[in-house]
Amino acid sequence: MKKLNPKDKLKCHCGKWAAPDHFMVDGMRVRGWSCKCGEKYFHPDDIEPILTVNMLKKEGLVGKVSKVGNSYSVRLPAKLVKALRLKIGMSLNIQVKDANRIELSIA
Ligand SMILES: [Zn+2]
Repeated sequence: MKKLNPKDKLKCHCGKWAAPDHFMVDGMRVRGWSCKCGEKYFHPDDIEPILTVNMLKKEGLVGKVSKVGNSYSVRLPAKLVKALRLKIGMSLNIQVKDANRIELSIA
């Protein structure tokens, strides 16, 4: 993710200049601008992943177990990979919750 240039200020609706900033939304780092009046603006490129993650949280997903060589893998839907900005080779923590439930988290 490209960092915002400190000179890339945004005119706030209050009339002042909002300065580049970043925020955490649902565990995702989002670029944006914040104004001294308290208003926050999200970078347009960073809004889509937030909306996708919110949609995926509601609809649920199905991953398929497959075999690759001697290992097993779980296929993740591409829209999830894109929204969470996962990269090939990235490590994920696996936590077994019980016999029917596992949880993946980004390491
Ligand atoms: Zn303002």
